[in-house]
Amino acid sequence: ETARRQRSPWQCYQPGQDEQHFRQLTLIRDLQEAARESQLWMAYQPKIDASTGRVCQFEALMRWQHPSLGFIPPDEFITLAERSGNIRLLTRWMIDSVCHQLAEWRRAGQPHSVAINLSAEDVIDPQLGQHLLSVLDHYGLDVEQLSLEVTESAVMQDPALANRCLNELRQAGLTVAIDDFGTGYSSLAQLKQLPVAALKIDKSFVMSLDTQPDDVVIVRSTIELGHRLGLRVIAEGVETAAIAAMLCEFGCDELQGYLIAKPLPGHEVATWLAHYRPRDILPLA
Ligand code: C2E
Ligand code: MG
Ligand code: MG
Ligand code: MG
Repeated sequence: ETARRQRSPWQCYQPGQDEQHFRQLTLIRDLQEAARESQLWMAYQPKIDASTGRVCQFEALMRWQHPSLGFIPPDEFITLAERSGNIRLLTRWMIDSVCHQLAEWRRAGQPHSVAINLSAEDVIDPQLGQHLLSVLDHYGLDVEQLSLEVTESAVMQDPALANRCLNELRQAGLTVAIDDFGTGYSSLAQLKQLPVAALKIDKSFVMSLDTQPDDVVIVRSTIELGHRLGLRVIAEGVETAAIAAMLCEFGCDELQGYLIAKPLPGHEVATWLAHYRPRDILPLA
């Protein structure tokens, strides 16, 4: 009965499915012009040291303001770019944009460091390392000014090749953090082999830390695990002072989230920094 019903094309139709499909095709088509027509830009969100409150780094997050569809979330358009074979182009645009910004900050006497997000395709791109180094060189930047965030699932698509590429990047001086830690399917045995310097605990475990006892267990053990493996541990999605205080107490190394700042346009970073007061956020001694 059920099987027959599923096979019928009329029964398969879901309201909204055509609209969704049309939107996806439109976005894939428009993605290629988006960079050229300055509809794409990078936002920068600070990460702070949990013990001093000092800003250690910014994470670069891509933004797309579509001319007729408005703001498109990166989770949506990055996935589409990955599926349509456009992600490497987008990543190259992103690297150039970030390095351009880093050079501008540096000229202004603010030599910040930025973490960029890589997709599964990028992690197995054998040319990426050379490309990164040549762009850094072009803008007169130090390799320490850039680091990488990759998700477990991105690495797990081809663990052997990803491992080789990440090792090359590491050798070139770029450090790697595992993003969204705890949500993927990687085994600890596989993670242990990766040249990783940090773990970012996924925001789904952090956002309700003060009300979900299970999340406390998960976050505490992840921090301990990371430290035992010699890694820095970063919490993303920190929205309240109560949660920040808990993370500090658990020994988390870095905090990132709306409590500290939302992702900002590059030109707003200097003003934000000038007004930033760690004491408003952290229970500092
Ligand atoms: P991600 O790398 O895990 O980034 C963290 C996401 O959490 C960002 O969403 C950020 O804006 C959001 N976030 C930060 N703090 C808070 C908070 O306190 N509360 C809440 N609710 N959210 C917070 P965003 O910017 O929408 O990016 C989503 C994902 O898209 C990123 O997750 C990353 O996987 C991907 N992405 C963004 N930019 C790029 C890029 O340039 N390249 C690639 N490959 N992926 C990117
Ligand atoms: Mg990230
Ligand atoms: Mg994340
Ligand atoms: Mg994420």
